Amino acid sequence: QAKERGRGCYIFYQSEMTERVQREAELAHMLSSARFLQQLHMEYQPQFCCHSGKLIGFEALLRWQHPEIGAISPLTFIPVAEKRGMIDDIGFWVAQHVATQIASWDESGYQFGAVSFNLSPVQLRNQEGVQALLELLTDSELPLDTFEVEITESACMDAGSEVLDMLESAASSGLRLAIDDFGTGYSSMVALKQLSASRLKIDRSFVRDMLDDPNDRQIVSATIALGHSLGLEVVAEGVETAQQLEVLRELGCDVVQGYFLGMPLGSELVSTFLAQGQLIYTAFPKRANA
Ligand code: C2E
Ligand code: MG
Ligand code: MG
Ligand code: MG
Repeated sequence: QAKERGRGCYIFYQSEMTERVQREAELAHMLSSARFLQQLHMEYQPQFCCHSGKLIGFEALLRWQHPEIGAISPLTFIPVAEKRGMIDDIGFWVAQHVATQIASWDESGYQFGAVSFNLSPVQLRNQEGVQALLELLTDSELPLDTFEVEITESACMDAGSEVLDMLESAASSGLRLAIDDFGTGYSSMVALKQLSASRLKIDRSFVRDMLDDPNDRQIVSATIALGHSLGLEVVAEGVETAQQLEVLRELGCDVVQGYFLGMPLGSELVSTFLAQGQLIYTAFPKRANA
């Protein structure tokens, strides 16, 4: 009896695996379509000063709108793109797109602060790819400090010393570096040691649990203190409630980002807000359930 059940489980597990493998193959196939890049766009989530509530920048987030399937999350397709050797092209597309967007906002005379975008750990393993990307930023002739690249701690660990040197040198010319999802990797301190980051982003899991769990609150508080003692600006991700904002203010956090303050928006909508010049968090659309 038990054996039979065991076998049933095994079959179930196997079919689940097959399904996953199949889904991944389908995704990979869609990613290699000639039209794939045309189905991408960026959204921009505003970031605000924790104390004044003023807009200080945006994080650019990649979106894939498939004509039949609809929106596909970066959490779903980026890992596949990484595995199948497609992330460099995507990453370059992102940087190009962000640079063009910034140039256009800049030309319109809008105040938008800095725009950050995410680099995949796999991208960081390709030295030429990183070089091409940094050249693109430099060649844009925009002030380099309008760009910020977000790198997770584990990506810092993986990156070779040549890549770290290139990032360092770009940072000394103004490029901002942020350590993303801080506290979730195995190498938080190594990341701080290896990169002259200007920002540290506290992962949203800590922000989420901070009100119920005193440990998480202590972790947030200690991370803010650590960041400040190293001269870094500290950003809290995933702020979903007024209470969380309040506690982050009390703890001395610098910058906040999350659905309570503003959701990711398409570039046209962002342009509308920038044109209106209402650059304070109360002016931006929130996500309904936040
Ligand atoms: P991330 O860099 O940590 O980005 C923050 C994620 O949290 C975004 O999810 C954002 O939409 C979401 N978020 C923002 N505020 C809240 C909130 O209040 N509550 C909750 N629950 N979530 C919030 P998204 O856009 O789905 O992106 C997920 C991840 O995919 C990103 O995490 C990043 O690791 C990756 N990603 C997104 N765009 C790119 C890209 O252009 N290149 C690369 N390599 N990775 C990207
Ligand atoms: Mg990020
Ligand atoms: Mg993050
Ligand atoms: Mg994250």
